[in-house]
Amino acid sequence: MKSHSFALPFASRDGELIVGGLPLSRLAAQVGQTPFYAYDRKLLAARVQALRGALPGSIKLHYAMKANPMPALVSFMAGQVDGLDVASGRELRVALDAGMDPAEISFAGPGKSVVELEQAVAAGVLLNVESAREVRLLADISQRTGWAARVAVRINPDFDLKSSGMKMGGGPKQFGVDAESVPELLVEIGRLGLAFEGFHLYAGSQNLRAEAIVEAQQKSYALCLRLAEHAPHPVRTLNLGGGFGIPYFPGDTPLDLAPIGANLAALAEQASRELPDAAITIELGRYLVGEAGVYVCRVLDRKVSRGHVFLVTDGGLHHHLAASGNFGQVIRKNYPVLIGNRMDATQLESASVVGPLCTPLDLLGDKMELPAAEPGDLVVILQSGAYGYTASPRDFLSHPAPVEVLV
Ligand SMILES: *Cc1c(COP(=O)(O)O)cnc(C)c1O
Repeated sequence: MKSHSFALPFASRDGELIVGGLPLSRLAAQVGQTPFYAYDRKLLAARVQALRGALPGSIKLHYAMKANPMPALVSFMAGQVDGLDVASGRELRVALDAGMDPAEISFAGPGKSVVELEQAVAAGVLLNVESAREVRLLADISQRTGWAARVAVRINPDFDLKSSGMKMGGGPKQFGVDAESVPELLVEIGRLGLAFEGFHLYAGSQNLRAEAIVEAQQKSYALCLRLAEHAPHPVRTLNLGGGFGIPYFPGDTPLDLAPIGANLAALAEQASRELPDAAITIELGRYLVGEAGVYVCRVLDRKVSRGHVFLVTDGGLHHHLAASGNFGQVIRKNYPVLIGNRMDATQLESASVVGPLCTPLDLLGDKMELPAAEPGDLVVILQSGAYGYTASPRDFLSHPAPVEVLV
């Protein structure tokens, strides 16, 4: 069986994984229950620092909150990044609570409600508009209230981000405005007197191939430059999206930032001549927070069925849908799993980690090589800082919810 091949971001001592400076069993006692998610501040800060080291200083770094909107984490991230991207009215409230300057918050997503648009205009955040309807509604709100509506146009490009886990641009999409329809919409934005600030593109997610990201960023820049000729005001913001992936599965290798940094430096230099008022932004969710988080559950039962070991835990797909393979994966693969209080074990056995739900989908690890575990032991799922807690159907089967802690 192929094993996971990236460096473990957490240390261990006396057989226990150390999370947030504490041995895992002590952290579990401090939290007061399993299952829980723990997100490590030091790792979050280190990730931002490493990224800034690899990218030109002029590139603005935004955190896309949908990856992990835990309020304490968002407040922490607000002090690390240059801006926050929200995708709902409720995320907007959390971003404002976090103390982020509204000038540095942007709001994207199809089907924004009138209330959400009004919230955003009242707050003074940048709206990445995704349709002519949103433009009309914003003009109405602006006229009625006298508050300026700051808008950027989210473009559905005429290309896609190759080898992405999830494609969100190119071809027919519910996201953004088709590139060929943007000139007409820009005229309308000018006619209605909205405060046009620039463009937003987001082509895809979970990409581990630097050359695919570089190609998409180059094409995105070229497209924005072409469309800028139709803009009612100079372009001040150029959000080129993100899509940076993290390794989850055996055979995945970490993203190489060097070519991305070099390409962004070249684009920034080009923009300084061709779009001199524009600041280039990238927006990342998973890449910033995914590797800083663990999900921890406890073994309740150890069952052997016809020779195969099942570790039945108090956690499962209702807490961590992505680790069960049911959050958009085409072929189920195992997330990296550890027995967090048996880090020194040398004897491994083949075991499957399952949850308490009455469905065979409730599988957290399929036939993995793990230390022989007993009831009471702590199962850790790595790479769980993004698309975990809020991306899971926590009420399915009515078991208790997990807790989230920032450590
Ligand atoms: C989901 C999303 C992101 C974050 O994606 P990640 O893969 O977590 O980096 C960023 N921008 C937009 C518009 C999104 O929809």
